[in-house]
Amino acid sequence: KKYVEESFERKRLYNEVIELKGNIRVFCRCRPLNQDEIASGTSSVVDIDPSRETELHIVSSDSSKKHFKFDHIFGPEDNQEAVFAQTSPVVISVLDGFNVCIFAYGQTGTGKTFTMEGTPGNRGVNFRTLEELFRISMERSSTMKYELSVSMLEVYNEKIRDLLIENSSQFSKKLEIKQAVEGTQEIPGLIEARVHNTNEVWELLKTGTQNRAVGSTNANEFSSRSHCLFRVTVRGENLVNGQRTKSYLWLVDLAGSERVGRIEVDGERLKESQFINKSLSALGDVISALASKTSHIPYRNSKLTHLLQSSLGGDCKALMFVQISPSNADLGETLCSLNFASRVRGIEHGPARKQA
Ligand code: ADP
Repeated sequence: KKYVEESFERKRLYNEVIELKGNIRVFCRCRPLNQDEIASGTSSVVDIDPSRETELHIVSSDSSKKHFKFDHIFGPEDNQEAVFAQTSPVVISVLDGFNVCIFAYGQTGTGKTFTMEGTPGNRGVNFRTLEELFRISMERSSTMKYELSVSMLEVYNEKIRDLLIENSSQFSKKLEIKQAVEGTQEIPGLIEARVHNTNEVWELLKTGTQNRAVGSTNANEFSSRSHCLFRVTVRGENLVNGQRTKSYLWLVDLAGSERVGRIEVDGERLKESQFINKSLSALGDVISALASKTSHIPYRNSKLTHLLQSSLGGDCKALMFVQISPSNADLGETLCSLNFASRVRGIEHGPARKQA
């Protein structure tokens, strides 16, 4: 009888792994109304049922309701700790040899950087992740030896730049993706800084963030138009059986997903926005192809998906934060973001699929 039970359990676990393959978890996070919105009497269109942490309604001014379901929903009152508590199981699986990708998606100003980077007094997923990885490596030190290193890069107009370069005169150097023999992607020349503690990580994150602003007149505005990728490389050695692993954790603050009207913008801005659109739809296409178990996954349609190729799909784990604003003024963009996230989660039914 015991044998039968065990084989059922094995089958169940196996199915669960198959089920998770290529699937993406989607968390939704709604920021609080800001001072200006409160001052102007803006009301919130986002209605989260507190007893159901997976469902939300968007209530339009004509009282029509749209319903969305995600793996978890964080409301304005949920702090960074609460967000990390749900994120931590996914990120720490990098220590078990899994490749992991975390994305923050959404309109500019909805809290992508707040979620990933956070603020000095209110640190986000990136820093908390490293803190947790160091803590667990210490805990496991009698059986596992881990080496952690970090890289930080930016994709702007389909060009890749290293954000950890110290000497800004070299900052215009572009990086290319090289296809390695084993089918993995390498980025020759990319700085990979070995880190031993969170202080070192914090310093590197500061350098990276400062570099992000180089060559732009308005740093904040600029950073919303590039994808910022923070990569943690974990090399593990099992001290008992000598087995070695190497895995990547990507923490990605995506460019703002908002659409810009052709009339409002000049040539440069229009070009940027076309690059952003292209790469965000490429990301959506890759994830939904993975979710629908299609055989051809179009990784090569953008630098972003090409970079992440070996960390998306297969046994990899992915998590996307869809960031939204509660304001009525942002309703259109909020619905676009929620529809995008529903599509990547692979649960959208009917003819609602948008043409790119
Ligand atoms: P994005 O990266 O999407 O452009 P930001 O992270 O810069 O957006 O957020 C815009 C502003 O809103 C920032 O001032 C940020 O500190 C604030 N903010 C965003 N999300 C939250 C939140 N959950 N709680 C408190 N403040 C937030």
